[in-house]
Amino acid sequence: MADTIFGRIIRKEIPARIEHEDDLCMAFHDVAPQAPIHVLVIPKKPIPSLAEAETGDEPLLGHLVFVATQLARKLGLADGYRLVVNCGRNGGQSVDHLHVHLLGGRALGWPPG
Ligand code: AMP
Repeated sequence: MADTIFGRIIRKEIPARIEHEDDLCMAFHDVAPQAPIHVLVIPKKPIPSLAEAETGDEPLLGHLVFVATQLARKLGLADGYRLVVNCGRNGGQSVDHLHVHLLGGRALGWPPG
């Protein structure tokens, strides 16, 4: 897949406020936060979108969600939070590297726009 800004963050070519890193993923604060806490959890494997996950990626997808739950705890989101995966043009995806948004720190509206 084409390189993206998130690929450059994984390779530490550009800075990010990194909250977590392991063999499979990285989590860093969104540069344009939509809530007091807004962290992105991304796989190191360059999967362009959720729609392009493949057979065998199931443990990785679960890992991303589990890491998000651990970060929510670490970042004090005891009152609740939301995980969002925008997928494709209609889903509002703007960076073609799969990412899970962790949003919290305020009451979040529903339905989303
Ligand atoms: P999406 O619209 O779901 O593709 O989300 C992409 C997110 O990446 C947006 O919330 C952007 O604010 C965020 N973003 C873009 N560039 C950076 C960057 N260099 N560092 C951190 N977050 C970024």
